[in-house]
Amino acid sequence: MAKAWVLLEVLDGKIKRVSWEMVTLAQQTGAQEIVGLLIGQGVQDLTGEASQYGFDKIVLVDHPAVEKYSASSYTAILTELYEKEKPELLFIANTAQGRDFAPRLAQRIGAGQVSDVTAYQGLAAANEGAKEVAATHTEQGPSTEATLAGQGAFIRPIYAGKAFASVRANSFPLVVTVRPNAFTAAAPQEGSEQGKATPVVEVPSLAATEAPVDLSAVIKEVVKHISSRPELTEADIIVSGGRGIKGPENFPLIESLADTLGAAVGASRAAVDAGWRHHDDQVGQTGKTVSPTLYIACGISGAIQHLAGMNSSKVIVAINKDPEANIFKVADYGIVGDLFEVVPLLQAEFEKVLH
Ligand code: FAD
Repeated sequence: MAKAWVLLEVLDGKIKRVSWEMVTLAQQTGAQEIVGLLIGQGVQDLTGEASQYGFDKIVLVDHPAVEKYSASSYTAILTELYEKEKPELLFIANTAQGRDFAPRLAQRIGAGQVSDVTAYQGLAAANEGAKEVAATHTEQGPSTEATLAGQGAFIRPIYAGKAFASVRANSFPLVVTVRPNAFTAAAPQEGSEQGKATPVVEVPSLAATEAPVDLSAVIKEVVKHISSRPELTEADIIVSGGRGIKGPENFPLIESLADTLGAAVGASRAAVDAGWRHHDDQVGQTGKTVSPTLYIACGISGAIQHLAGMNSSKVIVAINKDPEANIFKVADYGIVGDLFEVVPLLQAEFEKVLH
């Protein structure tokens, strides 16, 4: 029976939405047993919420030693848990945290890794796709029920999002990191009583009790960039500004549109390097990767490094005064014009519809 594990990522005492998106992917792979993992301190209280997502079991490691995330302790705990149950598939969010420890875990347990997955193609569709690949390519068919789950194709962007690779595993276990906002979040099951629907197994993890001292990195303090707006990687709508904004004094224009839409505010590296925005807001290759439903780029030229972070957005709107700007090549809707005129007009129209 193929097992899939989903590591529920917790931030500020809340389970991040990407966790429920990973449940959707785990279901799509056809895994017969889906287990949710909760690691941290005080996370026991979150099992009630997690129980609503149809897990067969929730494994809980609640220990003061893992109050703060560290790559070494997470790797040690997950390696220990893995050795007990040997799941075929391990899903981890492709966030700063997941990207940090997933490769270490894969190496430690001898797993392959597929990173930054944005879609999954079931076995039949993947086989169709494989026929189009060179005739010399030999596919290993699934031999057991266990290997059936996850034998389809994991789709991931490559070359800064210019192309998509279709990755199929021929051996397990497999560590899969999943891009936030790429999959629809599983819906909580109506009627399931909080905390009662799913068995919760608290594991007295030795690795947690003896949390290894990481000499290479010690987290002393977590400094949060406080914002009342949604977190960039989880936001449904993002309004971003670039060098075309001309200075920090003009960013309220972008913020105001964002607030009308309930959106997060992003920025190009040019705006961040100029000191107009905090680095937390940077979208792109050396910033955050985002996949919102709507991305509005204002005064951003569309350099490949910026596109790498946002071109999987579902709908892209670009406002730029240069009709030749590269951003228009990826935009679904392009507005050629001065953003200082266009943005207030757009906002006024949205206000009429939304408020
Ligand atoms: P510009 O390229 O200067 O574009 C400004 C745009 O504003 C122009 O298209 C202009 O026509 C338009 N404009 C000006 N005035 C107005 C107006 N009044 N109304 C409307 N439009 C106007 N960049 C990122 O964004 N994210 C990254 O993560 C990133 N990582 C990088 C990593 C590496 C290794 C390297 C080498 C570069 C990276 N960059 C990144 C930088 C990237 O190459 C570009 O330099 C940067 O994205 C440009 O930002 P911009 O579009 O805001 O500025």
